[in-house]
Amino acid sequence: MHELRNHLARITDINHAAAVLEWDQETYMPEGGAASRARQVATLRTLAHELLTSRETERALDAARPETDMDDDLVRIVRRDVKKATRVPSELVNAMSEAQGHAKGAWQKARATNTFRTFAPHLERIVDLSLEHAEALGYEDEPYDALLDIHEPDMKTRDVSATFAALKKELVPFVRDVAQDAASPGKTAPIDIVHGHFPHQAQWEFGLRVARDFGYDLTRGRQDHSAHPFSTTFSIDDVRITTRIDESFFNPGFFGTLHEAGHAMYEQGIDPALERTPLADGTSLGMHESQSRMWENQVGRSLPFWEHYMPAAREAFPGALADVSAEMMYRAVNRVEPSLIRVEADELTYNLHIMLRFELERAMLAGDVAIGDLPSAWNDRMESWLGIRPGTDAEGVLQDIHWSLGALGYFPTYALGNLMSAQLFEAMHRDVPDRDVHIRNGEFAPILAWLRRNVHVWGRRRSAVEILEATCGTGLVAAPWIRYVKAKYTS
Ligand code: ZN
Repeated sequence: MHELRNHLARITDINHAAAVLEWDQETYMPEGGAASRARQVATLRTLAHELLTSRETERALDAARPETDMDDDLVRIVRRDVKKATRVPSELVNAMSEAQGHAKGAWQKARATNTFRTFAPHLERIVDLSLEHAEALGYEDEPYDALLDIHEPDMKTRDVSATFAALKKELVPFVRDVAQDAASPGKTAPIDIVHGHFPHQAQWEFGLRVARDFGYDLTRGRQDHSAHPFSTTFSIDDVRITTRIDESFFNPGFFGTLHEAGHAMYEQGIDPALERTPLADGTSLGMHESQSRMWENQVGRSLPFWEHYMPAAREAFPGALADVSAEMMYRAVNRVEPSLIRVEADELTYNLHIMLRFELERAMLAGDVAIGDLPSAWNDRMESWLGIRPGTDAEGVLQDIHWSLGALGYFPTYALGNLMSAQLFEAMHRDVPDRDVHIRNGEFAPILAWLRRNVHVWGRRRSAVEILEATCGTGLVAAPWIRYVKAKYTS
């Protein structure tokens, strides 16, 4: 095992060094550094890929003599990584990155001018290459399985599809009710509470204070500014987050900080014995998102949370929040408004935006929808699910960058994260019956300890489905999330 461990440590070090360069690129690097930085990152990533797919890895895996369960997991998962990394021929990788380069520019132009047809041929090419990619990776039922598996190992398209169908059946009529019911907690909030003047420094300090209270360890992390908030890991002992603050709107900076801190706490909680191995990482994007969404929504948008923090919030923002009660704040941060744009969507309607993309991606790969018909297929779903129809393609099918980057199979992980977070939060409640009392008292240690024990510590040793089965007694299901939103949004 010693030789394998050493070899994997070198690969992990190179990847983490690349992550430092990428973090710097998004935070402090002057504009002029872009070209050389891109080359440096590419060099390190290629080096790490070559090392992983080298004969040396093969030899080290064959020579390894696992003595513990952890050793077994390491050998099993690294073998799987190597297999995935070697299955895609380099010509295909090059063709994809070339197609993405063209598609990204075309998408930007098409969105600015509202002309989907100029983007359509590029999307067609991306879909063709994604199909080739899926064929190269291999799959059980349908090509979408292979693409989903990149981000969500062991999750099957048919299971996601069945779960989403159950969710849609409940959610579409419920959203309609909430949107029409003027007395629902999602409708009665005075919208101007969270719009006003929220000074930059006060937002920065208040957000970080709550993140620290949650358990984000700032001796092993830090927060900086970036245009698009993210979290990144250089080691279990150095996990960083970024935020973006808007002085006229409270939500993006504050909930962004809680969200990214949720991601970061996951990585800080991984078993130190996995340090410098590829297993010291979140097990899937969906599970990662479940951690960020739980702290952001289930905790940060709950009434007990605001009962605890409202005095501090009033003190931090005396101008904007002086006369605001916990109840008013709770309503303001949970306001529901069906909207056209995914990134502006509220907690209740967000999953519908994701399910729409999942359906269309799957239909594109299966050839069930012609690329030219995509705008109307999109708009029809928006109208029947959310009751609003985009007036332009920029507000509809052209709004996201993901497809131009070739990232098909990525969107579902956002909704999976929401569903998993509700499953885990319910399971936690059984083990920690005073959960909400703790939140009201600002005591988050019992919550974090439960997550550490059941989710974080495993790193990639257990898949998302295995973690759900062990903690909730079932794989992915929609019912807990439906119960959660119905409790929240029914007056
Ligand atoms: Zn996230």
